[in-house]
Amino acid sequence: MIRQYELINRVKAYDPDMDENALNRAYVYAMKMHGTQTRASGDPYFSHPLEVAAILTELKMDTASVITALLHDTVEDTDATIEEISSLFGQEIGKLVDGVTKLSQIELQRPEEKQAENFRKLILAMSEDIRVLLVKLADRLHNMRTLHHISKPEKQKRIARETLEIYVPLAERIGIHTWKEELEDLAFKYLNPEARESIAKRLEFLRSEGEKVVVKIIAELTKQLKTADIDAKITGREKTPHSIWLKMQRKNVSFEQLSDIMAFRVIVDDVSACYHVLGIIHGLYPSVPGRFKDYISIPKANGYRSLHTTVIGPENQRIEMQIRTAEMHEEAEFGVAAHWAYKNTEGNAKKGGKQYRWLRELMDIVEQAARPEEFLQHTKLELFQEQVYCFTPQGDLIELPKGATPVDFAYAVHSQVGDTCVGAKVNGRIVPLNTQLQNGDQVEIRTSDKQTPSPNWERFVVTGKAHARIRRFVRMQQVEQYSNLGKAMLQKICRQENIEFQEKPFISVVKQFKADSVEMLYTGVGSGHINGREVFKAAFPEQAAANLKKLKQPNLEALQKPKTQRKRKGKAAPMPIKGLIPGMALHFARCCHPLPGDKIVGIVTTGKGVTIHTVDCESLEAFADTPERWLDVSWDDGEDTPETHIGRLSIVLANEPGSLGTLSTVIGQKSANITNLKIINRQTDFWDILVDVFVHDAVHLEEIIKALRATPEIASVKRTKGR
Ligand code: MN
Repeated sequence: MIRQYELINRVKAYDPDMDENALNRAYVYAMKMHGTQTRASGDPYFSHPLEVAAILTELKMDTASVITALLHDTVEDTDATIEEISSLFGQEIGKLVDGVTKLSQIELQRPEEKQAENFRKLILAMSEDIRVLLVKLADRLHNMRTLHHISKPEKQKRIARETLEIYVPLAERIGIHTWKEELEDLAFKYLNPEARESIAKRLEFLRSEGEKVVVKIIAELTKQLKTADIDAKITGREKTPHSIWLKMQRKNVSFEQLSDIMAFRVIVDDVSACYHVLGIIHGLYPSVPGRFKDYISIPKANGYRSLHTTVIGPENQRIEMQIRTAEMHEEAEFGVAAHWAYKNTEGNAKKGGKQYRWLRELMDIVEQAARPEEFLQHTKLELFQEQVYCFTPQGDLIELPKGATPVDFAYAVHSQVGDTCVGAKVNGRIVPLNTQLQNGDQVEIRTSDKQTPSPNWERFVVTGKAHARIRRFVRMQQVEQYSNLGKAMLQKICRQENIEFQEKPFISVVKQFKADSVEMLYTGVGSGHINGREVFKAAFPEQAAANLKKLKQPNLEALQKPKTQRKRKGKAAPMPIKGLIPGMALHFARCCHPLPGDKIVGIVTTGKGVTIHTVDCESLEAFADTPERWLDVSWDDGEDTPETHIGRLSIVLANEPGSLGTLSTVIGQKSANITNLKIINRQTDFWDILVDVFVHDAVHLEEIIKALRATPEIASVKRTKGR
């Protein structure tokens, strides 16, 4: 376990101006908070954050990151809170610790393997400050180094798989090669110990076999480079068991068939020396065509720079050569963190801006469009800031655009889930369906078979899928309504013409009316875009001609036959009208304000469904010559209606103080609400006013009229249907 002063000295070595006091306080605080907690190894728990901090000093990370590493498990595992940490160590540290804590909580979700890519994106999206990601990677590295203390092999395997699928690509992406290789090798050890062992053994064998060759090549190269006056460090380099294993899988070959196991690295002072060395190597040994790669003039997306070539060695074996400068080598091993440290020691960076300089550069690189084989395909990190990633209760990750709501989530899970969604829980709490989801939210959608998409959802959903499904549903519903209505209208015309309704004659005229099917023909008639009588004439030309002269008028008298008095009972019903097709759009005419109890008639209105008028409404005259648009309807006597009907009263009111107050009091006593009041005519003694009240039905309105007539201040009152 690294000691307190050692940690301080390590940071001081690369950052002499570090805040020693803060680091000391963080050390003491974390040690105190973790107290007697222990690790699976039996070590004090505090050894873990301390080691994580030490790992970060290898990257020459700033003091804030090192402090964050010390504190990174306090909120998750002890009584510490973000508020306390912010007040003790400042907002910056507070935010960093909060970020790492959130990542640790996300980790507990354990997504399925197939979702690894989304999970990586989630981690990137949540690491608003890239230092959060670096602390998390160091945390994972230490946990992998100590994984042998975990007793359950299943748990070891799960953690190893997670490491390989999520953290190895992240480390690679930000160019920290050493971490990437170590994480990968540790994971390989737990996931496929036999393969790793076997490859390692054969590497060992090759090493002893090839020792002579290695020595020979290094000697030969050193001599040649000296002649050319080039300072160079030449090292034999071994591939990792995991990279060899991957290659065996990818190329479907055995270990023996792999040719370029042997590799050398030449490190020189500057770029021109790199190309010089390349020329010397190619002069010494024949090169393998197609294997030369110049990552100096075209660096990899993660910033990697080097020259690669493969040559045929003295014993006829393939040898891979990497040529790079010392700076490039540091970068390759430690990513841009090293790049910054390099510049800093050269004194290029001014105090103040230096802390974040390499972070900015790192962000730049992460944001560059990646190569296809890398995991951030054609995407930029900033793009992920436009996404939110949420979990299903099963731990599946759902990727959504920022601003997405539970309804978007439901549609992303499955169209059926979206269509039947009635409510949502986010992180266990019931929330409105228009709530905006946050990264890492766990979303549970409640559904009901009876639910259908609501047109209101259109106002807050953000995903194309949700929009499309809702619109499609609304359209389908309209089509169905109009189709039913149109069919009913044609049936009615047939009845009026004393012809038995059959579908066949109508099918035969479908094309004539530019419809695709008889349903679409019905829909056209129902929505009013096709004239029903024209359709009838086309379908039954003879009858139409014969009956032309005795076109029936609607039988108003029959409609006016008194109906049995309706009785009030039970709960409110959404559809108070009988004689309509269920689900049909329904409007009450503004001209006559029909009330339950009134004799009514339905008129099919173009594009609007059915409008209900009272049978004595004057506007009905306008429909006298289109009797097919008239529908026999009546109030549904069995169902009570809520107080949503407007009754209109024409009142002559004495112009006295308080008479308006009396008027509203009387109406209120009859359990009705005034919704509108308009003064038509103001005279000295009397006012003519129009009052709209919400009532249950005509009987209710009649009761109000009686009560008003008994009021001295009111000269006269009558129900009116005019405007
Ligand atoms: Mn930890």
